[in-house]
Amino acid sequence: MMSAMRDSNRHAVCYVGENLDEFAQQKAKVILCNSGQAEPCGVCNSCKKVQNSSHPDLIWVREHKVKEVREVVATSVIRPNDGEFKVYIFTEADSMRAESQNALLKFTEEPPDYVKIIFTAKSPDLLLDTIKSRLVFINADGASGTPHPTAELLETTKAFVSALVNKNEYSAAAALSKIKTREDLSAVLDLISKAMHNEQCTMYNYVEAQKFLLNCIDDLKYNPNINLACTYITSGICEKLKL
Ligand SMILES: [Zn+2]
Repeated sequence: MMSAMRDSNRHAVCYVGENLDEFAQQKAKVILCNSGQAEPCGVCNSCKKVQNSSHPDLIWVREHKVKEVREVVATSVIRPNDGEFKVYIFTEADSMRAESQNALLKFTEEPPDYVKIIFTAKSPDLLLDTIKSRLVFINADGASGTPHPTAELLETTKAFVSALVNKNEYSAAAALSKIKTREDLSAVLDLISKAMHNEQCTMYNYVEAQKFLLNCIDDLKYNPNINLACTYITSGICEKLKL
């Protein structure tokens, strides 16, 4: 599924679900990645630029007034700056008024061949039929940001949670210290949150620890240093659990 949009002639997809910004960003990364693989490599220039929001060929459209939408569409005649494709992401497209959606009809029907269009929507029924007929709908609920945790991330999660259960802060810190990217950390924290939920009966003060963890997940985007974030999160959770 990851590579479907890159390879096929589908040029407009709507991912359905909530909070899909990270998910959409991941999909854009697949399309723009220089490695040509089905999964984004995460290390090429293109992946890095997508990650730090500096890719000139990735255009986020969060402002849905008709004037802005028309301006954005007008930019699509300019060829990609870096590579083969340009990606337009219209977030929460279902909140767009009819006149803005109408301004997208031709664009979604026949974009330039280097353009890929991503919509995200909570309630796709709110889109006009004329727009709907041009989109491929894919249910992405519950997938935000972490579509496919790798075996390595699952292993890290397991090691971390079992360290918590065994009240071993050092092992917990060691498990989390293997993480190198914000994306991986965010994926692992989601997994840890679920795993802790399953282990809650073995954890004293579980509720406080879970609350702390969820705050950390929210704050992650403001935290530039992954190593520090890992240390902070581990010692915070251990403290809440009173290990
Ligand atoms: Zn890449």
